[in-house]
Amino acid sequence: MSTREGSLEAPTRHPLDWKSADFYDEAKLDKELERVFDICHGCRRCVNLCTAFPTLFDLVDGSPTLEVDGVKKADFGKVVDQCYLCDMCYMTKCPYVPPHAWNVDFPHLMLRAKAVKFREGGVKLRDKLLSSTDAMGKLATIPVVVQAVNAVNKTGFARGIMDGLLGIHKDRVLPEYDNTPYDIWAVYPSRRHLSAKVRLFVDHVEEQFKGAGR
Ligand code: SF4
Ligand code: SF4
Repeated sequence: MSTREGSLEAPTRHPLDWKSADFYDEAKLDKELERVFDICHGCRRCVNLCTAFPTLFDLVDGSPTLEVDGVKKADFGKVVDQCYLCDMCYMTKCPYVPPHAWNVDFPHLMLRAKAVKFREGGVKLRDKLLSSTDAMGKLATIPVVVQAVNAVNKTGFARGIMDGLLGIHKDRVLPEYDNTPYDIWAVYPSRRHLSAKVRLFVDHVEEQFKGAGR
């Protein structure tokens, strides 16, 4: 039987199978993490994309067997935590994405691992707060509040609390919140041949940023 390489064509994003019974099965998740990590360890092509891959390769290189089977399952989460789901490895690098027989979808696997962790209550308040960028941004950019937030963020006292409670290093340079009105432009070729995907994207952006600009 012949198999097709995955990345000979533009990669296709497939729906996440999050309703299947196996999706939240921890043993099956660990098995799939081990399978994909093993392929990545042999490939290492994505080493410079983010810190998820160097974390994985350091764990493998520091394991007694120098293979993925020597890495403790409890440490798999260290790799998952470093992935911020940008999709770059899937969309630009990986030659083993479906329809390749190895069926490597690293970002979806990381998303599944994060979902399992979330369901088990393993997500800290810190992670919930820091990942709620839209809610934090809306709160912190209310007029008057924004000046107060930016001023407080510069005090050593507040930075000490943030370091202790949220794990944000006290010396880390933080960008300021800014509530200056702005315009967003979407430029696309023509109304006549506008695909449903582009229309949906434009509508989504309009909905998300309604009231945020002038
Ligand atoms: S999806 Fe995750 S693992 Fe892949 S490049 Fe982005 S951050 Fe790294
Ligand atoms: S995601 Fe694909 S290209 Fe990247 S390291 Fe893993 S197997 Fe290699």
